[in-house]
Amino acid sequence: MIVMKFGGTSNRDAAAIANVLRIITTHLAERPVVVISAIANATNDLEESARTAASGDASRGEEILTRLNARHLAIVGALVRDKARAGNLLGAFSGYLKELTTLLHGLAILHELTPRTMDAICSYGERFSSRIIAAGLQESGVDAVWVDAKDFMLTDSNFGRALPVMEAVRSNLVRVVVPLLERQQVPVTQGFIGVTSSGAYTTMGRESSDFSASIIGAALDAERVQIWTDVDGILTADPRIVAGVQKVRHMSFDEAFELSYFGAKVLHPNTMLPLLEKNIPVEVRNSRREEGTGTLIEQPDPSRAVAPAVKSISFSADVTVVSLSPRKRTNQYLFWEGVFSVLSRSGIDVRSVTTSEYKIAFTIAGSYESSTVIPCLEEFGPVTVLPGQASLCIVGSGLREWNGFAGRVFGALTGLKTSLIAYGASGLSMTVVVDRLELEDALVRLHNEFFGSPAPSGEFDVPFN
Ligand code: ADP
Ligand code: ASP
Ligand code: MG
Repeated sequence: MIVMKFGGTSNRDAAAIANVLRIITTHLAERPVVVISAIANATNDLEESARTAASGDASRGEEILTRLNARHLAIVGALVRDKARAGNLLGAFSGYLKELTTLLHGLAILHELTPRTMDAICSYGERFSSRIIAAGLQESGVDAVWVDAKDFMLTDSNFGRALPVMEAVRSNLVRVVVPLLERQQVPVTQGFIGVTSSGAYTTMGRESSDFSASIIGAALDAERVQIWTDVDGILTADPRIVAGVQKVRHMSFDEAFELSYFGAKVLHPNTMLPLLEKNIPVEVRNSRREEGTGTLIEQPDPSRAVAPAVKSISFSADVTVVSLSPRKRTNQYLFWEGVFSVLSRSGIDVRSVTTSEYKIAFTIAGSYESSTVIPCLEEFGPVTVLPGQASLCIVGSGLREWNGFAGRVFGALTGLKTSLIAYGASGLSMTVVVDRLELEDALVRLHNEFFGSPAPSGEFDVPFN
């Protein structure tokens, strides 16, 4: 069997969804489990309606919901002709809408929005869209069955960034989904959402439907996991910023992880983790150009020599560089320990770290200028905060052994001020932090340096190692 995941960009409107339905029907022989994201922007709308209601304005929150509901209804109107089927769907939708409205009123009364309630509200986006896809498939004569992720995706209760309990997910899938596959049915379920042992909805972080697909793929020993999106595969840079990008045909799990961890939106970084051990390949493909082969992510053959090559450059547009040195220069290890325990207690993900004998500098996502974590760090010594930065991450293989690689990076960035440089400990990346206003310039310069002349095919490949 295979897992086919379709992102919000593929579920934007009725025409895009009709295309998704067609793609699924061409893969029926491979026994797909279909994983669906909310329609484009639905999760943003749900978040905004929740925040608006919690600020005391339930009716403006409801307006946002009404507009989202109208988008869902327009899709149902265009795709579902069968009256009984459409009636069932609309019945489920009005139930969802009632529940959401009640939640918004509760938020407006309490003026409080917990991560748990935010997850409950966001879970509806995937529930709406997956019901549409299941009904649309049935409409085309496919024996599709809507499966509630609540019936199998058990997670911890870390709302907003929950993690799956793999053994339980596996046995739940064997109980709930495998019998459907054995009957040649097509299960359609939701990405992004899970459930705690006490039955509360969780989410696994924004953009995590990719991760849901790989959890299901690993648990069911899928032949491969397909991530269908709006680009031809993993590209040499984000095409929204750089012109003349090329498609990368092959990548290793580690490279894809590094790229997404340092900002490439095309895949959620956790996607690779459940699949690594079993070497289940991931295909990243374009739902608008189905004929393309996409990018194949798999484990490299360890017996093959590593060829040095840059594969792609990702970025995070909003990072802060924090640096500090201890007040007293004794027991350096206690200083490191203290700093990292403050950061981990605050749930802050540190991205790149550099140290000198008595100084540490690191990047964190977002603007932390006035964050409560800074006073905690100041207990160790003076802290310098540099907001308004952006990090660029050059990802590839054999970078450490590549004589002249760093020279090319610095040469390309001549004249730009860099506030932090880190050679990734993995040997697969180098991170350079620049002023946010110079991000685009830096990205284009680095892309020209390493991918200057586009391959005639528009595809880029290096010996897969
Ligand atoms: P989906 O809704 O399918 O999950 P996303 O918007 O999350 O789609 O991810 C696809 C987008 O990721 C692309 O439209 C592209 O702008 C962006 N992106 C950023 N970096 C890359 C990259 N290196 N390769 C491909 N796409 C990238
Ligand atoms: N709908 C969720 C989001 O927008 C999950 C996803 O699309 O992967 O973040
Ligand atoms: Mg995505």
